[in-house]
Amino acid sequence: MQRILFIDRDGTLIREPDDEQIDSLEKLSFVPGAISGMKALMQTDFVRLLVSNQDGLGTDAFPEETFLPAHHKMLETLAGEGIHFDAEHIDRTFEADHLPTRKPGTAMLTAYTSGDYDLAGSYVIGDRATDVQLAVNLGCRALLLRSPGWAEAHLTATQKRALALATESWSDLAEYLRRGERRAEVHRKTAETDIDIVVDLDGRGETHIDTGLHFYDHMLAQLPHHAGISLSCTCKGDLDVDEHHTMEDVAIALGEALRKALGHKRGIGRYGFALPMDETDAFCTLDLGGRIDFSWQVDFSREYVGDTPTEMYKHVFHSLACALQANLHLKAQGENNHHLIEGVFKAFARALRQAISYEAGRYDLPSSKGCL
Ligand SMILES: [Mg+2]
Repeated sequence: MQRILFIDRDGTLIREPDDEQIDSLEKLSFVPGAISGMKALMQTDFVRLLVSNQDGLGTDAFPEETFLPAHHKMLETLAGEGIHFDAEHIDRTFEADHLPTRKPGTAMLTAYTSGDYDLAGSYVIGDRATDVQLAVNLGCRALLLRSPGWAEAHLTATQKRALALATESWSDLAEYLRRGERRAEVHRKTAETDIDIVVDLDGRGETHIDTGLHFYDHMLAQLPHHAGISLSCTCKGDLDVDEHHTMEDVAIALGEALRKALGHKRGIGRYGFALPMDETDAFCTLDLGGRIDFSWQVDFSREYVGDTPTEMYKHVFHSLACALQANLHLKAQGENNHHLIEGVFKAFARALRQAISYEAGRYDLPSSKGCL
């Protein structure tokens, strides 16, 4: 399903004068960064709609002949930079008319609310709380081009939930859309385990891990810390049988969540590696290229560390590599079994950090083949 950008005009693409009416060429000027930002968005697969309220357009209060020259000049300037809209939707009513076509009403946008479009993955780009409310009413999210001094406190709780980003910078806004939200949720329920995982590759390191296995929790907690991601992972597993299903299924769900969160993979580093860490000499090489390969060179001298069997860690990382669809090669040498396992987790996390790192301004696939 196609995703849509509902793009406001006045105050977002072009500056809005004090009288809120752009009725002459002299009043036409672009918001800084709007042209280059829109140009960057032309590289994405969003449908682009211009959605605007123009109070009383076509009446004596705002004759068309005063509106059209500036409007056409704006479109012509954008077209000169390769920027086009798929459709324009302009409501001409006054606020006092209280008609449902006027933003934040959605009556002039019903062609897009029929179920043929991915509204949950769509965005309103605007400069006012009414644009955020339009996002709420459409069931999509809002990107607010805020003015200096604007405070989120002006929004209702519902509007705040719909707000994906508030920024003064068109460049930040375009970058956000090009990168996409690198967040994924996976719920995996079988007769053996019930798992909920939330991963945010651009998160702030928030961590909540509870698998019922204390040592496994301790190891999994290395990932958000060293990979620079947020991770929530809860598992209710059949620990009365043994640790196997819990450890394996968490690894599968985690790999799946990481793969989903990576999305289109454009602009990422793709590869990662880690140098020896601590006294354990742990190494990890990683390729997020979509093919699966796994090697494991870690020997343990103990059957258990904490409440987890050491033999399970090869299986954990193999399961994770398969679900992530990655090449994952792990090697560690040392004497202390706790450090061997922790070193492998840390090396993997550091490798992951490099591989998922996003280079601002780049939107190419890290592959000479053009696909991953
Ligand atoms: Mg506006």
